[in-house]
Amino acid sequence: MQGLVDYHMHTPLCHHAEGHPQAYVEVAAERGLTEIGFSCHSPMMAEFDDWRMSIEEFPRYLEMVEEARVHGETLGVAVRLGLEVDYLPGHDPWIGELTKMASWDYLIGSVHYLTTELVVDHPEHLSQVEKLYSPEAVWELYWELYERAIRTKLFDFMAHPDLPKKFGRVPEGDLSNYYAGSLIAMHETGTAYEINTAGLRKPVGELYPTSEFLSLARRAGIALVIGSDAHAPEDVGAGFDRAITAAKEAGYTQLARFERRERTLTDF
Ligand code: ZN
Ligand code: FE
Ligand code: FE
Ligand code: ZN
Repeated sequence: MQGLVDYHMHTPLCHHAEGHPQAYVEVAAERGLTEIGFSCHSPMMAEFDDWRMSIEEFPRYLEMVEEARVHGETLGVAVRLGLEVDYLPGHDPWIGELTKMASWDYLIGSVHYLTTELVVDHPEHLSQVEKLYSPEAVWELYWELYERAIRTKLFDFMAHPDLPKKFGRVPEGDLSNYYAGSLIAMHETGTAYEINTAGLRKPVGELYPTSEFLSLARRAGIALVIGSDAHAPEDVGAGFDRAITAAKEAGYTQLARFERRERTLTDF
């Protein structure tokens, strides 16, 4: 994995991840990653749910990533500062505030919330989602929000594109109509996206997104990142062999890197 980058990893501040960021750096070094970035779940303007850092904990997040950065220097691993930001309609002003709260290397846009009540990838919300929405309705709603998130231009790259497939609930037939608008939006706004290997570790057992999405995105010239979505040190770089094969099959020869929200492309 020499020269590869993992930009999606969490910290214990979100209450569902484990291990100090320094432990993630150590695994990155062992696995030959030369650059990683932390992107824990963003604070909300008020208490919202129990799976993110609070605004009070935010300074500690910056400290922890800084501790990891210093540790990384001794191990030859560059450490970047990012954040996985939840997009919900109407939250744009708050997200705008977040962009000013640190010298970010990148911000990741995520859609987890289908509504202010329902989280598409939360196991405890699954039965309620199934009761209220057909798979088709979930996909329509999700991709509409995903496109809106992209159009805000608040994000450097978008997370786990086809996340609603996590539990294997997927509409039948051609899915490209659902995400065509998001591909156009990424193309028009210059927003990148990630292959997220966490899907391999979930019931669906696949990368996010599908190879079809990758091919269409590649043809539209949309830049790519690979992330493990690590919630424990042993997840760092997990599944990257599969992600690289998929990226190459789709025709990608370069991956995006971010520093102070400036994007560069490097061969892989
Ligand atoms: Zn998480
Ligand atoms: Fe996420
Ligand atoms: Fe994540
Ligand atoms: Zn995630």
